[in-house]
Amino acid sequence: MNMTSQVIPQALERLIQDLCKLPGIGQKTASRLALNILRRPAGEARELANALAELHSSIQLCSCCFTFSQNDPCAICADHKRDQALVCVVEQPGDLLAIENAGNYRGHYHILHGVLSPMDGIGPAEIKVKELEARINSGTIKEVFIATSSTVPGEATASFLLDRLQHRAIRITRLACGIPMGMDIKYADKHTLARAIESRSESR
Ligand SMILES: [Zn+2]
Repeated sequence: MNMTSQVIPQALERLIQDLCKLPGIGQKTASRLALNILRRPAGEARELANALAELHSSIQLCSCCFTFSQNDPCAICADHKRDQALVCVVEQPGDLLAIENAGNYRGHYHILHGVLSPMDGIGPAEIKVKELEARINSGTIKEVFIATSSTVPGEATASFLLDRLQHRAIRITRLACGIPMGMDIKYADKHTLARAIESRSESR
């Protein structure tokens, strides 16, 4: 048993260790958050616990585009006013939100849930590539708009997709320049992103 576990009550220590598992939260931030939760009314802690407990029971992956959604299909896939022939391929659900916030995209999406990263053992089978191909096979898609980040793995994933899809009778476009190299699209400002979507370019 170490010093901290003797001094800190077990329930508090457990919360600190659980918070530490989140990205960007170190021991110090986790302790500050846990103590803050403890100081607030008990009802607020219960509210937070309920929200966490409900997360997985009420949210699922859309079986079409693979974004997180309360319903299947998600609101975007179910929206017939959006252009079904245009599909924007992004790395994560957060990227979909960034593109939606840019405000000028009216097509559908496909979430890869990752990028190719051979060093970490992530190949095409680990991300939703065959699901994208199955959607293309269904015949409704006329344009695949690749909007992976301009990071090294994002670029590698885009090149892989271009290669894999180039023989298909569809238009393949990429997010235009304006997004700085190495930047995750989630962090691009919405006007730059809107312009990059507007002037997306043909990839072959
Ligand atoms: Zn969907």
